Amino acid sequence: MKYEFVCEDCDQTQTVELRPSQFDECRESGVPCECSEEAKAYHQFNPGNLSVCFKGDGWSDKMHREKKYRSKRSQRMAERQRKHNKTPELVPNYQGEEVENWREAQNLASKDGRSAATYEPKIHKD
Ligand SMILES: [Zn+2]
Repeated sequence: MKYEFVCEDCDQTQTVELRPSQFDECRESGVPCECSEEAKAYHQFNPGNLSVCFKGDGWSDKMHREKKYRSKRSQRMAERQRKHNKTPELVPNYQGEEVENWREAQNLASKDGRSAATYEPKIHKD
């Protein structure tokens, strides 16, 4: 696996080939940079590689929150979708009572002396 490390001092990016076990060490301790003896380069967050898990640094917290927020939001949207799908309009019904099909609903409506025309487009959709 190739990992990108960015130097804290000179912002130079270097790509280092590491085994995942080596990477665990290097992302915590950093890797040396050629700009100076004390300079350390740290692994750069790569948005294209979300499978890399960051432990205890700012990025991971932020990512985690973002992910949480996103899944919450999609949950809310899914719920809304579900509620929307439950609206009686989508199931053949008359006055909220489920019926076999829209033609049935139309029959019931016309028996009640109601305008059955509103059922017409739904019948055609059936
Ligand atoms: Zn450097």
